[in-house]
Amino acid sequence: MTVTLTLTDLLPISEDATDWDVAACRGDQHPDRWFPDPSESFDYAARICARCPIADACGTYASATGQTGVWGGREYRRGKLIR
Ligand code: SF4
Repeated sequence: MTVTLTLTDLLPISEDATDWDVAACRGDQHPDRWFPDPSESFDYAARICARCPIADACGTYASATGQTGVWGGREYRRGKLIR
């Protein structure tokens, strides 16, 4: 059996599930693009984040809760903005 995770499963940006209703990445089939290797481009994720109505909140959440990956169109490592 194959289990397919979407980004929604991986990035719990809020306790309020309704926030995810408007997330541009909701249902995206390439969640790995939000977790690039250090030398890897994250243009795919950044393009989607650029049209996301909750991008500011997403980045704030990543910083405040020590997240790693692409949040709000920027990449964080343990909550620190790296690029
Ligand atoms: S800013 Fe990016 S990672 Fe955050 S919810 Fe929106 S699309 Fe998803």
